[in-house]
Order: sequence, then C-alpha cells, then structure tokens
Amino acid sequence: MPAPSTANVSAYVGFEPVIGLEVHVQLLTESKIFCSCSARFGAAPNTHVCPVCLGLPGALPVLNRRAIEFAVLAAMALNCEIRETSIFARKNYFYPDLPKGYQISQYDKPLAEHGWIEIAADRAKKKIGITRVHLEEDAGKSLHDGFSEAADKTAIDLNRSGIPLIEIVTEPDIASPDEAFDFLTRLKEIILYTGVSDCNMEEGSLRCDANVSVRPRGEIRLGTKTEVKNVNSFRFIRDALAYEIERQIEVIASGDTVVQETRLYSPGESRTYSMRSKEQAHDYRYFPEPDLLPLIVDGKWQAEIRDRLPELPEPRRLRMIDEFGITAYDAQVLTTSKSLADQFESAAKVAKNPKRVANLVQSELMGRLKARNLEIEHSPISMKGVAESADLVERGTISGKMLKDLYDLAFERSKDFPQVYEEEGRPQQTADASALEKIIDGLIAANPKQVEQYRAGKKTVAGFFVGQVMKASKGQANPQIVNQLVTKKLES
Ligand SMILES: [Zn+2]
Repeated sequence: MPAPSTANVSAYVGFEPVIGLEVHVQLLTESKIFCSCSARFGAAPNTHVCPVCLGLPGALPVLNRRAIEFAVLAAMALNCEIRETSIFARKNYFYPDLPKGYQISQYDKPLAEHGWIEIAADRAKKKIGITRVHLEEDAGKSLHDGFSEAADKTAIDLNRSGIPLIEIVTEPDIASPDEAFDFLTRLKEIILYTGVSDCNMEEGSLRCDANVSVRPRGEIRLGTKTEVKNVNSFRFIRDALAYEIERQIEVIASGDTVVQETRLYSPGESRTYSMRSKEQAHDYRYFPEPDLLPLIVDGKWQAEIRDRLPELPEPRRLRMIDEFGITAYDAQVLTTSKSLADQFESAAKVAKNPKRVANLVQSELMGRLKARNLEIEHSPISMKGVAESADLVERGTISGKMLKDLYDLAFERSKDFPQVYEEEGRPQQTADASALEKIIDGLIAANPKQVEQYRAGKKTVAGFFVGQVMKASKGQANPQIVNQLVTKKLES
C-alpha cells in the first residue's frame, strides 16, 4: 500500500479515526530517580550504575526530591490536578534491559490527573484531555550495533536504568494525524518552558507511542486499536498515523477485522509493520511498591512548586501581542523558545522604545533570516543588538537607511550589530547644522521660483527642499533636523 498522500481528517470518507498518545519525557535531574548515579546522557556504557539501578538483591530505592518537583511542575503546566497522596507500584515484566524484573511506576493512584492542552483544530481551539501524568523509572537500553560482536550479540547499557520519566497519557480526543502533530508540538513547547526536560528526541528524552483505531462516523463504540511504538519524530508520528488509519479503513472495508497489536513504523518505507500481537494482553501484576512510602505532595509543597511555574507559551504570546503590538505570527516566532522570548523581552524593555525593537525584528530581521534560511536562534544579530540599533535610530544617530546597510553587513560578516557598528567607525547621519545650512542656502539661491511659491503660502514646497538636501547628503542627514532648518530658512 502506498503512503497516504494526506494526513487530513477529511480524507477518511465515512470513517473517523480515534487517537490517544502516551508520551514519555525524561526529567533533567542531575541524578537518577532512586539512586545517586548521574543521569547525564552520553557516558561510556554501564559507567553510571550502582546496586540500586542494577537491581541487585537487597538494594533499596531512595526517591529523588527534584524528580518529584519536576514532575509536579510539568503536570501543573499541563493543567492537571495534583494528587496529594500517590502510590508507587511495581510493573512486573521480563525484558533483558530490566534487571529487577519489574519497573517502579505508578498505577491506580498516579501523581496527577485530569489535565488538558489546547490545540488549534480547523481554525478553532480544541482541548485535548490529559488522563494522567505519573512518575516512573526508565529501563536500560539494548544495543544492537556499535560494538565488536554486534553481528550476533546484543549488549545492554544500564546507564539509562533508573533515569526519572514522566508518562503523559492523553484521552482518545485526537481526531487526526495533524491534531496529533499539533498536540505534540504544544506539549513539547510547554515542557521546554518549564525546563524539566530538554525533550531531545534523538537522545530519547521524549518518546511517543500512539494508540489508533477507526470507527464508522457516528458510531460511539471504539474500534479495535493498534499501538504504534517508538517513533522518533513528530513528522514520522503523523505519517505513521496517516498510514495506519488508511490501513485499518482498508481492512474494515474489505470485510476483515483489525487485529489488536503493536506495530513499528519504518520511516524509509513510510509504513508500519506488525511487531507483536496483543491478543494475550500484558498482565503486569501491578502491586504497591513495598520499598517506598506513599508519595505525599501536600498543599504547601504544591504551592511552592506552583510559584516556580513560568509564564507558559500561549498566555505569553497573547500578552506580547498586546504589549508590543506585534502580530500573532511574530509572537509565535519570538516565543519559539523560552530563552529567545526572554532575550527579546529583556532587550525590548531596556530599549528607549520597545515597540521599535519589535518592529525591527519584524521588518528588518525576519526577512533577512528567511532569505538565508536561518532560524532566529542562529541570527547573527542578537536581540540585544536589535535593541541597540533601535536606540540609535530612536536618538536620530543613524537613519533607517543606515540601519538597513549595517544589518546587511552584519549578515554578510556573521557578526552582531554592535560589532559591525564599531567596525564601521560608529557612523552617524549628518547632524552638523552649519554644513546643512550651507547646502540649504545654495538650494534657496538656485530655486527662487520655489521660494516664492512657499512664501506665497504653498507650504508643501518645503518637501522639495528637504528632498534635495537629503539627496545632497546621500541619505546621511537626519530628516527631522533638515526639516527644521529648511522651514527656518524659508521663513526668514
Ligand atoms: Zn544507580
């Protein structure tokens, strides 16, 4: 079956997809969730391990306070209710990368529930429910290449074993691959703003599984779902869902039934493959973890954590549109990351005229970035540089034309504005009144007819003289000063 050409919901005539997501996010703690081993990525295999995260008999877990705070902060940002008492549970299963034979997770009393994220669906806003956010430990990692005997052996790296994760489970509220993509984009943006994870998908800090089924439009009962696992980009998730929806519709339309199973996505072929049947549903035999007390996050602690909640992307965009008079699109670009938005706002606030900073970003910076296919994070001109240039224009030191030229030089040289301004010898538009007066005197003498018209009451003729002076100064003169001087001379 070829890859579906569209991920749009309207493509599925007569059928309606139902999608729910499970997202695992690694928390950026220094140490692991139940031991003091480093949680950093990229160390040599099996160097960040100890009896606890190796699952040796008799080793006892000690809960990392920071992991709890990060999880609560993320859950709050996702509009969840925090449960004052949550319970850790053992999820029992056998897998080579899970030395204890169970994973410590949370089951019937998770840390947080009943949240939501708002997405834009068909130009309207739509809330996607978040069923739960719970804390758990990561498993190790099986390695199939990158070591000498990889041809016929699998190696295990347990550095990742015990790294704190939150699992975010959505309600089956997502109605198309595009909505899934939008949800994940918003989710990642919010988590990044909280600073609890770097959400780096290449390093596995954010992983997504999707449950998808289809049903005839208008049907209330859910169809049989399949689970698409471990897809490592949002674009691939969208493509995998689009493929899977079309596949299920074809199965049903041809009179067959969809088999409940786990499927893997192959980005090269843009299709999914059956991995294992879920006919014997997993029985994880969950039971409360006997080595850990109930986790209590009381009202006082919740309030302390809530105080650390930053302004989130969507409210921030609305405020910036209001405060700086920028467009929704510009607000979106300027809030791409929290650090960029912070840079912009701190630069705009110290500038003489914050609105001018916003305007320069829109009118002078964005176009140049787009022409060079650069993201704003990689702009040679920093937000501080934009603010400095805005002040120079504001003070009348440089003209708009000079600013454009200096921006061009900054992009050519890949240097920030202040540096280029220095290199160019701190140019200034001509404000030397006596030089300008000399030019104006000459023009008045050479154009008696226009002078006569002006003095007869045709004040617009002043514009002719201003234009001539600007031309004579090659655009270096300050138009306001020229204007004043021309009027003064004509009226004398
Ligand atoms: Zn350890």
